[in-house]
Amino acid sequence: MQNLPTYDEVVAAAGRLDGHAHRTPVLRSRTADERWGASFFFKCENFQRMGAFKFRGAFNALSKFDPAQRRAGAIAFSSGNHAQAIALAARELGMPAVIVMPTDAPAAKLAATRGYGAEVVLYDRFTEDREALARRLSEERGMTLIPPYDHPDVIAGQGTAVKELIEDTGPLDALFVCLGGGGLTSGSALSARALSPGCRIYGVEPEAGNDGQQSLRAGRIVHIETPRTIADGAQTQHLGNYTFPLIQRDVDDILTVSDAQLVEGMRFFAERMKMVVEPTGCLGFAAACAAGASIAGQRVGVVISGGNVDLQRFASLLSAS
Ligand SMILES: *Cc1c(COP(=O)(O)O)cnc(C)c1O
Repeated sequence: MQNLPTYDEVVAAAGRLDGHAHRTPVLRSRTADERWGASFFFKCENFQRMGAFKFRGAFNALSKFDPAQRRAGAIAFSSGNHAQAIALAARELGMPAVIVMPTDAPAAKLAATRGYGAEVVLYDRFTEDREALARRLSEERGMTLIPPYDHPDVIAGQGTAVKELIEDTGPLDALFVCLGGGGLTSGSALSARALSPGCRIYGVEPEAGNDGQQSLRAGRIVHIETPRTIADGAQTQHLGNYTFPLIQRDVDDILTVSDAQLVEGMRFFAERMKMVVEPTGCLGFAAACAAGASIAGQRVGVVISGGNVDLQRFASLLSAS
């Protein structure tokens, strides 16, 4: 098996991110503590640069490039937060970036990615294979392809958020992390195992896309169709060759929540904590709320993974329920 990243690599990533990524705040909520009978610590990556934790992994991966890689730049395929993270990290490090996006990606996302200075290459979702296109571009231009989660430097970068959380709060009894392809969860688990060994660690997926839960139960990576869920950052079809073994080793369980529970989380964050959190960013909190008696009296860490949601969509999700 390939070499899995370790906590030492999370520490090295934190050094590279220093002065580039925000040390995001850890917020408390008396209302949440009283309602659920626990002490909550919210790590607010919705306040990270470009609005999500993904900047951490992208910046760490790109800052490890050698001079030839820096000259040629980075390439990514994504229509979500990873695209913007690679674009911003590349600009910050003064290297070119190409992002492969579908022709029907939301105009706001195309504009945001171009706004960070990246070149956008469009492909037709119905007739073209984006991975093949990205691979061809990377060969033609010598650019380095950075995947959204299954890469040791990406995982180590994502792990810095929970490193900061536990440094700020002290040991935790339980930690709830949003789970898509598992970069954030496996990196978080490296930090939690090192800094708070007794902490129970949970990855949280949308009910409709529980490939991670199935994989943990089956003991192998289970592939699913693209799930239908409002958690667009967790519509991944499978865990990765790095993230799965780390999750298998270090994560206690994978839980699921419904879209309705995610909307309740969005409402709570907006109403009580005055924060805009995207649906995927509510996965961890929604599962913690559903955990009931098992977290009573405990110190509970919750990673809020991002805040990038179109305001019109935000309003319609909240008014529909
Ligand atoms: C990418 C993303 C996730 C899922 O992260 P993985 O590393 O793929 O598990 C969760 N929340 C937000 C906001 C994201 O952008």
